[in-house]
Amino acid sequence: YAPISPFGKNAGPPLAGGKHILGGKGANLAEMSELGLSVPPGFTITTECCDKYCNEWDQTLPPELWNQIVASLTAVEHEMNSQFGSPENPLLLSVRSGAAISMPGMMDTVLNLGMNDQVVEGLANKTGNARFAWDSYRRFLEMFGNVVLEIPRSLFEDELDDIKYEKGVNEDTDLTAEDLKEVVGRFKKVYETMDTTFPQDVLEQLRLSIGAVFKGWMGDRAIKYREVEQIRSLLGTAVNCQAMVFGNMGDTSGTGVSFSRDPNTGSAELFGEFLINAQGEDVVAGIRTPRNISELKGIMPEVYEEFVRNTQILEKKFGDMQDIEFTIQEGKLYMLQTRNGKRGGEAAVKIAVDLVEEGLITKEQAVQKVLPEHLDQLLHPRFPDVEMKEYKKAVLTRGLPASPGAAVGRIALTNEQVVANKEKGFPSIMVRDETSPDDVEGMYSAEGILTARGGMTSHAAVVARGWGKPCVCGCTSLSVDEHSGEIVITLDDGSQKTFKEGDFLSLNGQTGEVLEGEQAVAPPAITGNLKTFMDWVDEIRDIDVLTNADTPADAKEARKNGANGIGLCRSEHMFFKPERISKVRQLILGDDKQADAALKDLLQFQREDYEGIFKEMDGLPVTVRLLDPPLHEFLPSVKESAVMAELAKQLGTSIHELTEKVESMEEVNPMLGLRGCRLGITRPSIIEMQTRAILEAALNAIEAGVDARPDIMVPLVGKVEEFRNQKELIQSVAKSVFEERGKSCAYKIGTMIEIPRAALTAHEISEEAEFFSFGSNDLTQMTFGYSRDDVGSFVPSYLSKGILQDDPFVSLDTEGVGQLIKMTVERGRGIKPDLKIGVCGEHGGDPRSVRFFSNEAGLSYVSCSPFRVPIARLAAAQASV
Ligand code: ADP
Ligand code: MG
Ligand code: MG
Repeated sequence: YAPISPFGKNAGPPLAGGKHILGGKGANLAEMSELGLSVPPGFTITTECCDKYCNEWDQTLPPELWNQIVASLTAVEHEMNSQFGSPENPLLLSVRSGAAISMPGMMDTVLNLGMNDQVVEGLANKTGNARFAWDSYRRFLEMFGNVVLEIPRSLFEDELDDIKYEKGVNEDTDLTAEDLKEVVGRFKKVYETMDTTFPQDVLEQLRLSIGAVFKGWMGDRAIKYREVEQIRSLLGTAVNCQAMVFGNMGDTSGTGVSFSRDPNTGSAELFGEFLINAQGEDVVAGIRTPRNISELKGIMPEVYEEFVRNTQILEKKFGDMQDIEFTIQEGKLYMLQTRNGKRGGEAAVKIAVDLVEEGLITKEQAVQKVLPEHLDQLLHPRFPDVEMKEYKKAVLTRGLPASPGAAVGRIALTNEQVVANKEKGFPSIMVRDETSPDDVEGMYSAEGILTARGGMTSHAAVVARGWGKPCVCGCTSLSVDEHSGEIVITLDDGSQKTFKEGDFLSLNGQTGEVLEGEQAVAPPAITGNLKTFMDWVDEIRDIDVLTNADTPADAKEARKNGANGIGLCRSEHMFFKPERISKVRQLILGDDKQADAALKDLLQFQREDYEGIFKEMDGLPVTVRLLDPPLHEFLPSVKESAVMAELAKQLGTSIHELTEKVESMEEVNPMLGLRGCRLGITRPSIIEMQTRAILEAALNAIEAGVDARPDIMVPLVGKVEEFRNQKELIQSVAKSVFEERGKSCAYKIGTMIEIPRAALTAHEISEEAEFFSFGSNDLTQMTFGYSRDDVGSFVPSYLSKGILQDDPFVSLDTEGVGQLIKMTVERGRGIKPDLKIGVCGEHGGDPRSVRFFSNEAGLSYVSCSPFRVPIARLAAAQASV
């Protein structure tokens, strides 16, 4: 294994393996130094070491590794022309974690490592800046104490606040060298009260810090984050040991964080913040209010110019928007970190389109830069008209627009409350003074996040943007009282309004507005950049995306979202309308004459439905599935006495008789009972009616100038004989319809593949069928033997025990069910090479499953619900590149 990789001006090329081995931070530090940007020198201890530290080395650093660390340190000393631990000319280090996937706020950093009682004096002499030296020392004592020895940060913060109070100053920067010396003294006492001592030996400091970063990988916060984000397959975190540069050396020094483009809107302007005379996390921590990056131009024009140039170099190198951390030491710029920036949906699309237009990336690359979540977010509801009077009247106050989107929910002040709301099915708005990594769980489950403190790069903002959750932060007119469960908002006119946990609040992440109550939201449109982007998506993908739509309205919506047709029209869904359900019941329970009359009425209803759907899908295939669910689903419960009485009257029978009849139709295991083609075979009249409705509707539509393309699909086939039976029935109805009308139309008869036996005998069925469509829900249900309606009782525990990696009803089980799918395709196309084969289960809208269907199974199309269509289109395009 390869333990250490140096970076910096004279370091030479890094170890192979990229982010996986060096972590994101380490890989990009090496990349930046190779590009010639000024990066303080250092070295990366690889993720492999973390893996071994946690799993093999019993949480210690073996002597060989330690020797190599010390040797790498010597190289940094040479480069910096100073010595670690030397009071005359000290080198200080930062020790930073960095995994392959960035985990904001999850892992910890120790700055100014190498300080002790002698070094601080030496540093003061060398720089002639005692204030700076003591400031660095107190920061180190706090970070080291917190990260390595797990002393609560608040113990240090309280001491600092006390001293500021005693000295009558507001800001850290107003404390003098003498004050800070006192802070150091008090910080050391904090160590004593915690029964530990601060190690004066600098090598001991380093050894302990490296170990602490590795241990942090297995800490609760990090584990929780990986769980929520479903991050698996990482070795661990790397540790980056790097020479310190100092942003706290006075007014020509500073530190900042900036995106190369706006992560909310995507516009090509720097978006960030900085602080003069500050170090490290000061900007993010919200201790002092940071200044907008654009102000740096006036203060240090040359540094600003260089920074802008650097952002351009980095965007070109990485072909993406960058999130950059930097420090300025006495007028000289240092680059400390860069990574592809997290962004909201709108920005993701705009940046992808702009980068192509600027010639930095290809369309194929652009398509990879927008995540399904981004589209999801863009296609989420928004507040329809922010100019409306009612909307404006509801605005209580404004904060920073940290992450766009509309969120409506009940105020929740704690993780527990958000989770409790969720269990009741209530949406939440998480309201906090400011968020910390401990709030991740609540933030994740909330619809939106509102904070009183913190800037655009605060923890809340970064995490919310990453998840595409609406967030308003730094809302200074808000105060949060966790104990009483209340929040108070000061309105523009100075008056105050109090809200309790459970009250509704709405957030507009686009504008930063906080609104009273439950505001109405509306769906968005595909125009502008999104339209351009989706056109590229369609150029690139090589599999069709159809939709599951049961009504003309759904069909219309799906077509607006770019569907290439209907892959599943569940015809019986239209039976549930109030005026129809009684006809269906009459059909099922009545005598022959009553059933006939009901069929006539239903024929008329269905014909109208299909005609409407054919019109909406003009020129595109419409796949209608014949009746599938058990008939019992259409019947009332015998307990509904009023409904039963009404029905008995209608059918001219007694309640007693009716009850017996309904009960006699109950099945022990209805999902494996009389449903699908079994119904069509035992009660052919329903199928005759449906076939007639489909074909008459098609002929009517064609007469009206519509290009109607009906595909008739037989459900739940397990034996080819079943299919043959239904096919003959359909063909004979078609023959009579065409004779009666003196006209005919093209149509196809195919089947669903949802019973394992159908998959196993696909070669036989394909002799008869003109297309296949996988009903992946039923196929999953029957392959696993999990009742889809009962998985709630064991799947969550399977997931937490690692018996299942994913819920197989959400993400296709490619190993098991996937094998059946591949086999079906092989056997089916072995007989008919051009056989059209698609999938119409929930999996058709799941990006990972779409990748499998497109790349591994070679399907012709996926079909998903209308609102998932754009996401499936994107997933299909991403799978094609
Ligand atoms: P995170 O992963 O939380 O972003 P980092 O490892 O990037 O943590 O460190 C946090 C901050 O510490 C950086 O943004 C930077 O301001 C400061 N920092 C890290 N390394 C150095 C260094 N070598 N010199 C000066 N400041 C540093
Ligand atoms: Mg950090
Ligand atoms: Mg950082």
